[in-house]
Amino acid sequence: MTRSVTESMHELLYRRNPMFSFEFFPPKDEAEKKVLAASLEELAGLDPCFVSVTCGAAGSTRDLTRDLVCSFQEKYSFGVMAHVTATGYSRRELAELVKDYRRHGVMNFLALRGDPPRAGVNWTPPADQPDYALEVVKIIRDNAPGVSVGVAAYPETHPSAASPEADLQHLGEKVAAGADFAVTQMFFDNDHYVSFVERSRRAGIDVPILPGIMPITRIGQAERFETLCQVSVPTALRSALESGEKAGTTREIGVSFATAQATDLLRRGAPGIHFFTLNQSRACHTVFAALQAMGWKSNR
Ligand SMILES: Cc1cc2nc3c(=O)[nH]c(=O)nc-3n(C[C@H](O)[C@H](O)[C@H](O)COP(=O)(O)OP(=O)(O)OC[C@H]3O[C@@H](n4cnc5c(N)ncnc54)[C@H](O)[C@@H]3O)c2cc1C
Repeated sequence: MTRSVTESMHELLYRRNPMFSFEFFPPKDEAEKKVLAASLEELAGLDPCFVSVTCGAAGSTRDLTRDLVCSFQEKYSFGVMAHVTATGYSRRELAELVKDYRRHGVMNFLALRGDPPRAGVNWTPPADQPDYALEVVKIIRDNAPGVSVGVAAYPETHPSAASPEADLQHLGEKVAAGADFAVTQMFFDNDHYVSFVERSRRAGIDVPILPGIMPITRIGQAERFETLCQVSVPTALRSALESGEKAGTTREIGVSFATAQATDLLRRGAPGIHFFTLNQSRACHTVFAALQAMGWKSNR
C-alpha cells in the first residue's frame, strides 16, 4: 500500500483539529497478535489520524516495538508514532534506534524516560542510560532532523515529581529542548486537564497538549490506575462502576463516561483525543464512533 500520510503529528494537531490517535502495545504471543490485528482492522475503518506503539518497561519489548512501528509505517495510511524510552537503552543505542526508525520513514516520536522493570525482575540499567526524558528529546533532535517529537505530561503531577511546580518546570525544559507537542497521562476529571493547560500556558509552554483518555471496562482497572499511575477516580464514577459490577454493565458505564469525558474535553478546546486502547478496540471504537456521530470529525 502506498503511504499517504506525510504530515507530522505536530502538523496534524494544528490542521486536523480535533485529532484522534490510538495507543497500542506490541503483542507478545500469537493470541495477542490476533487481538491486535482485529482491533486495528476495526479502528482503521474509522480513519484515525495516528497510532502509537509503546515500548515495554525497561526496554523489555525493544525488538517487538521496533518491528511493529516499522510494519505499521510500511502498511497503513495513518501516521505512526514510536515511543522511545531512556530506560533500558544506552545513549548510543538510542541514537542508533532513532536513525534506524528514520531510515524506515518514521517521522514521529514520543520521548519518554520510561518505566522501570516490574518489581522482582533482575535488571541492571546500561551504564550510560539517560536519567530523564529531556535527554531523549535531545538525542532524537540530534539524530533525526525534521521529525516531530512529543513528550508525556501529567495533569495530576508525575508520581515521583518533587512538586507540581517542579514537574511543570521539567515539562517546560523538554519543550525548550525541542518537543513540539505533549500527550497527557490518563485522568478522569477534566478540570485537572483544563487547569493543567492553563498553568502550562502561564509557564510559557505553548505546544499542543493532547489529552489521553481510557475507557474503564472493569472496576479493577480503576483501582490499578489509582495505585500505579496515581490518577484519581471520581467517587461518582467509582460508585457507578461498583453498581455496574453487580449488574454486569461496567463496560457500558465506562464507555458512556469516556464518551461524555471526550466530548467535554473537545468542547473545552482540547486539540484532540489520544486513546489508551490496551489493544482492545471495542470500547475505544464505540467512543470514537459516538464522537464522529456527534460531528467531532477530523478535517481532511
Ligand atoms: C502518554 C504516555 C505514554 C507512555 N508510554 C510509555 C511507554 O511506551 N513505555 C514506558 O516504559 N513508559 C511509558 N509511559 C510512562 C512514563 O515513561 C513514566 O511515567 C515515567 O516514569 C516518566 O516518564 P517521563 O517521560 O514523563 O519522564 P521525565 O519527563 O523524565 O520525568 C520523570 C520524573 O522526573 C522528574 N524530572 C524530570 N527532569 C528532572 C530533573 N532534571 N531533575 C529532577 N527531576 C526531574 C519529573 O518531574 C518526573 O517526576 C508513558 C506515559 C505517558 C503519559
